[in-house]
Amino acid sequence: MSTSPAAEPSAHDASAAEDAKYIYDLSEGDASMKPLLGGKGANVAEMTKIGIPVPDGFTVTTAACIEATKHDGEWPASLWDDIQAALARLEERTGRVLGAAENPLLVSVRSGAVVSMPGMMDTILNLGISDESVEALGREADSPRFAWDAYRRFIQMYGEVVEQVPAHVYDDALVALKHQRGVTQDTELTADDLKGLVATFKDLSREHMGEELPTDPREQLRRSVDAVFRSWLNPRADVYRRANNISADLGTAVNVMQMVFGNRGETSATGVCFTRNPATGEKELYGEFLTNAQGEDVVAGIRTPRPLKEMEQVLPDAYHELIETMRKLEEHYGDMQDIEFTVEEEKLYLLQTRNGKRTASAAFKVARALVDEGVIDQREALRRVEPAQLDQLLHPAIDPEHGATPLTKGLNASPGAAVGEVVFDADTAERRGKAGDAVVLVRWETAPDDIAGVIAAQGVLTAHGGMTSHAAVVARGMGKPCVAGASEIKIDTDAKTLTIGSTVLRDGDTITLDGSTGEVFEGALELVPPQINEDFQTIVGWADEIRRLGVRANADTGEDAKRAREFGAEGIGLCRTEHMFMNEERLPAVQRMILAEDEDARASALAEILPMQQSDFEEIFEAMSGLPVTVRLLDPPLHEFLPNLVDQALLVQRLEIEGGKQSELKEAQHLLGRIHKLTEQNPMLGTRGVRLALMYPEIPEMQVRAIVRAALAVREKGGDPKVEIMVPLVAFAQELQRMRDLIDETVADELSGSGDQLDYTVGTMIELPRAAVCADQIAEHADFFSFGTNDLTQTGIGISRDDAEGAFLAAYVDDDIVPGNPFSSIDQDGVGGLVRLGTERGRSVKEHLKVGVCGEHGGDPASIALFNEIGLDYVSCSPYRVPIARFAAARAILDGENEEKSQA
Ligand code: PEP
Ligand code: MG
Repeated sequence: MSTSPAAEPSAHDASAAEDAKYIYDLSEGDASMKPLLGGKGANVAEMTKIGIPVPDGFTVTTAACIEATKHDGEWPASLWDDIQAALARLEERTGRVLGAAENPLLVSVRSGAVVSMPGMMDTILNLGISDESVEALGREADSPRFAWDAYRRFIQMYGEVVEQVPAHVYDDALVALKHQRGVTQDTELTADDLKGLVATFKDLSREHMGEELPTDPREQLRRSVDAVFRSWLNPRADVYRRANNISADLGTAVNVMQMVFGNRGETSATGVCFTRNPATGEKELYGEFLTNAQGEDVVAGIRTPRPLKEMEQVLPDAYHELIETMRKLEEHYGDMQDIEFTVEEEKLYLLQTRNGKRTASAAFKVARALVDEGVIDQREALRRVEPAQLDQLLHPAIDPEHGATPLTKGLNASPGAAVGEVVFDADTAERRGKAGDAVVLVRWETAPDDIAGVIAAQGVLTAHGGMTSHAAVVARGMGKPCVAGASEIKIDTDAKTLTIGSTVLRDGDTITLDGSTGEVFEGALELVPPQINEDFQTIVGWADEIRRLGVRANADTGEDAKRAREFGAEGIGLCRTEHMFMNEERLPAVQRMILAEDEDARASALAEILPMQQSDFEEIFEAMSGLPVTVRLLDPPLHEFLPNLVDQALLVQRLEIEGGKQSELKEAQHLLGRIHKLTEQNPMLGTRGVRLALMYPEIPEMQVRAIVRAALAVREKGGDPKVEIMVPLVAFAQELQRMRDLIDETVADELSGSGDQLDYTVGTMIELPRAAVCADQIAEHADFFSFGTNDLTQTGIGISRDDAEGAFLAAYVDDDIVPGNPFSSIDQDGVGGLVRLGTERGRSVKEHLKVGVCGEHGGDPASIALFNEIGLDYVSCSPYRVPIARFAAARAILDGENEEKSQA
């Protein structure tokens, strides 16, 4: 059984290599050296090792980049000498000299980070072409035109990337020349045209650089390596890293490799392929190629490439060798590969292989298939799927019964449904997306610079480019729906219109994309809940065999409870009861209860509410029969059930002005007075939770009666209710002790005379720092603890969720003051520390105290890893996140094993 030889990246490995050498020839590396050689460098070295044809070259390590970045761009002292020595060895091996007038060596200079970041950093091709070497190259290729085209492409790329000449400077000159010659395609320009263009490009470069374009290829190489180092910190790479949680400390390696040319006429080609379909995971041929083209043409979507299958006709030998190489590489790496290749005059070269980015459903299919094929085991399969990918599968899809006619159909580049308003540029998509609008980014094609807009959009629609175009690759990696290459759409970015046949859509009009079929619809189509397929079920089932943490759901209705059970929940960890009060039908009784002047009036209002609560509980106990259900007593402050203070004041004012019925006015004034009285400056820290229960004991008493009656009724019908009653917002042991007495007395009273018995437990939420610190005292009165990490985050850090998220917290995250939103993923040291402390102290008096979590963090993989490590018994999260939690709980164990191994 083979597993991937590629070690997981780690910043530490790379930076620890300070005294290691900075350059590795391809023959010296292998796949395990990813942290040092970057993904691309390690994999080309590995391919060299296993005898796959790769152009010769060397890799400048990530450690060199990190050193340079640390010292404001200053290179380690020996680096340039080392590069020159490596170049000399390469020249020796190839029998060519960089930029020479005879037998010239041309190289590519490519970035290659530890974790692949497609298109985010820079690349320079054809380096080594010069006034000296251009003629020789023309002779060798038997095509001066080819050589001059390579030269103008080089200046264009070098000038733009290395010397920061604006791209349009060269583009404009190229367009002007074509115009002058009366042609539309670059390929229609002659050798002489291109020669003239090279001269023009040099002049333009000088104008913009304020100095001559360097003519010495060695100097160009030095500057190019430096530019790639710098590109590690460019804004789009930064955005991509943040979106994908890649550390900025990893640095990029730089790969210098001999150029092979896919554009030496029709016996040459270049392409991209996957060993399986990265959109569906099916084992089938998937790839594209272009004859007489250079690699960037395919990825950048400049010409629309042909399906790989057609290569069999055009270049049969190279095609068959490629198919065999694909098989070999997948077997070697034990995972689906994403491959770049070039055919130069019928000879195949592999330029890159890496584990292919895939959609969530493909990830499951591939992982399961690889287990079935005996390539990897179940534990490895679980490592191959990321929790975020489960999340993607759990998103809604377009209702298959929609019946709408698509406006057009493009390529189904990345599946899923996206509904949003059309926007035509990435900046607008970013701005509006961040402001919370649902937008779909519509572009002729996307470029790496569009990354921030892609992230903020619901989906991407392009008119151009194939299944391996930039938009497609990036969207799949991020789980964004994408329809690419929809060639019937016409985009006018100035007028901001999208025309499809006779339909004209404008900025702000809504469309729906179906990334699974490639269809585009006008308006917003109905979405349906996610369908969990067999691959998903199987893999999450494997997770269940490994995990230790229990997984429950937060559910407040019978329907949610049912769904949670279908998703594999092992009980309910939090049933919030407030929505049972909020319901329109019940609100009048609830308000009467709150406004009651005396106990009798309150009791009669509560008596009306009780049967309604009881029926809610019955549904939930029934749905979760045999599994524990934690019912939390009422938590929010009472004013939340009353009308808004300002609205009520305005109503009173209006009634006063209108001078209508006195009784109506009086009632409104009474209500206003009551709202005033109940409204608090800091309701979050006010009369809520156990405080409310102790001030109005009739409320918890009614709730406990409803719980007991519901449990008895369900048992009567043959169900098996397992009741856990939970008290919110406890800070003092005394609070819980009193509530426990109230609960016990009420249950006893309900059961008295009936001869019935009911097992139940009483526990508390731990959601205040004091409760965590004094957990030993509180545990004396508790059968279980459940950490309410939402409130514990608010009160532990001292930030109000409602106010912080839209304000300073976003800036804190952007500025790296905090690693992420602590309401989404737990603040591991602080709030996580309180969870640890509370658990330890609680268990110091009750060794087997059951402890869970029911805040939002119960469904967050990174938080789950911490809860697993602390030794909690279960997590509880929303029903849709239950599979993620099951999976993450297994990953926590597997990742823990990995860590132990790497420390051993
Ligand atoms: C919590 O505080 O984490 C919790 C689950 O309670 P709520 O979100 O209802 O305050
Ligand atoms: Mg709470």
